[in-house]
Amino acid sequence: MEPVTRRRFLGLTAAGTGAVGVSALGFSTAEATQVKQRLRIEGAQVKRSVCPYCAVGCSLLAYTKTENGHTELLQIEGDPDSPVNEGTLCPKGATSLQLAISKRRVPSPMYRPPGATDWQTVSWDFTLDKLAQNIKASRDRTFITQDANGNVVNRCEGIAFAGGAAFSSEEGYLAAKLMRGLGVVHIEQQARV
Ligand code: SF4
Repeated sequence: MEPVTRRRFLGLTAAGTGAVGVSALGFSTAEATQVKQRLRIEGAQVKRSVCPYCAVGCSLLAYTKTENGHTELLQIEGDPDSPVNEGTLCPKGATSLQLAISKRRVPSPMYRPPGATDWQTVSWDFTLDKLAQNIKASRDRTFITQDANGNVVNRCEGIAFAGGAAFSSEEGYLAAKLMRGLGVVHIEQQARV
């Protein structure tokens, strides 16, 4: 007997469920599947990606369609060929389409000045300058050259850094080098949290 793989099991289950549902409506499971694909991903390009949310690193299939120079993201789902997630996604990963297309997504940096109650939309130039100024001020204020026992330590105790699970090796290397160059010792990675 042919072994039932996870992928085949899901396919059989979907087909069985569909057969019950559509036979009473007068069209076949194959026709129903065709209609579904026509509505959602017909003619779409599929690309592999990785869920950005956590260190598990589940693989995604992203379906896009380009028309009149505009590319639209149609669908994101788990990659059945990934040995990590085998086609599944947790509830958070299953909403990753919203990360790209949600109307509630904040498209620009927001800044609330000290003492203010309202947020302002600001430019990236303003944001990067502000970050650099605040990092310098914190480092100057909290950098110590010796600990309580007189040992030379040259470290900044007022800044902590947490890397993201979607960092590439190069991004992780660069971030760690930058932080250690500043004397930051509180360095963590989302994968270990
Ligand atoms: S789908 Fe869930 S478990 Fe997988 S990487 Fe994304 S957040 Fe993590």
